[in-house]
Amino acid sequence: MCGIVGYVGRREAGPILVEGLRRLEYRGYDSAGIAVVTSGNKVEARKKRGKIDDGLARELALSTPSGTSGIGHTRWATHGPPTDENSHPHFDQSGHLALVHNGVIENYDRLKSGLVERGHRFLSATDTEVLAHWIGKQLAETVEAHRQPHGATTNPESPLPVALFSRAVAEALRGVIGTYGIAVICEYWPGVIIGARRGSPLILGVGDGENFIGSDASAIVSHTRQVVYLNDYDVVTLTPDRFMVENLGTETAQVQISRLEFDSEAAERGPYPHFMLKEIFEQAQTVRNALRGRIDHDDGSAKFGGLNMSLGELRSIDRIVIAACGTSWHAALVAEYLLEELAHIPTEVEYASEFRYRNAPMDKHALLLVITQSGETADTLA
Ligand code: GLU
Repeated sequence: MCGIVGYVGRREAGPILVEGLRRLEYRGYDSAGIAVVTSGNKVEARKKRGKIDDGLARELALSTPSGTSGIGHTRWATHGPPTDENSHPHFDQSGHLALVHNGVIENYDRLKSGLVERGHRFLSATDTEVLAHWIGKQLAETVEAHRQPHGATTNPESPLPVALFSRAVAEALRGVIGTYGIAVICEYWPGVIIGARRGSPLILGVGDGENFIGSDASAIVSHTRQVVYLNDYDVVTLTPDRFMVENLGTETAQVQISRLEFDSEAAERGPYPHFMLKEIFEQAQTVRNALRGRIDHDDGSAKFGGLNMSLGELRSIDRIVIAACGTSWHAALVAEYLLEELAHIPTEVEYASEFRYRNAPMDKHALLLVITQSGETADTLA
């Protein structure tokens, strides 16, 4: 999973976006980019494959687009190799709209053929660029219908309501199959970001005269601790002074402002040369934090939220399978060792990416445990 950050406010967007992308660095990525609505109301992008310091930062040192709203992205390629062209943000056919995307658009091929037939030309191999064109096409149609209601032509200079932008994004997303967390900007509406999610996380940061959007709290925590976690099918309109959430499914979105507990230092590398070393040295503290309040010393037992099996059910388990990917898979190997050592229950560790496609027999006394570090690992969730 890669990262998204967006800013609307009164400060220069470029440096805020790059700082946000650096804070998302710990997630790993292959390229990075930003797009800003400039003071001349044009969307300008800079994007480069490779690490921020080796790519994007050098590009920005030559010239940084100036403006007070924009979006940024760190990519982990799924469609098309890590190249400058495939990096996000991607533009629509008109070049007026740009978007960043986390996730995979499953019906991109079908959407793309329809768009190619209508004369759209693509510059990258990504599913994301198809999404940008798809939304851009819907936006053009929505604006056209607004300007020419029932065949009459309205003044082309009159300002376009922001609701047209969010409506067009929402309408376009109804035709999309797959997962997405997106942030979209358009030069018709400088100072506005539309965000939407389905299957990929998205969080709002609520500031004073400025608002943020990110795929992860670490991208915004240095600016504000007031956040709103978006739900699947939410579409949010963000301006410097307000935000509005609609839900494509229920029409009434559940909006709750929460306070972030963690410190921005937790998302920083600190004195360590890389994140892995930091995590290794933090293990003792991390284990202490995770266990705090959950060990019952008097009872010689532990209490975990969410573990709702009875003692009888727990005692009947005669086999444990743990499914996980990546770092979680390695953590599972430690759990396997401990469970066999302490509980004497045969335990196996499986790659979730294999396990989901197998028809492995699991009888009623077998317990399946799944571990995901981010909570988003698609194979583990499946
Ligand atoms: N599918 C998109 C791509 O390959 C987004 C990948 C990502 O989540 O970074 O560009």
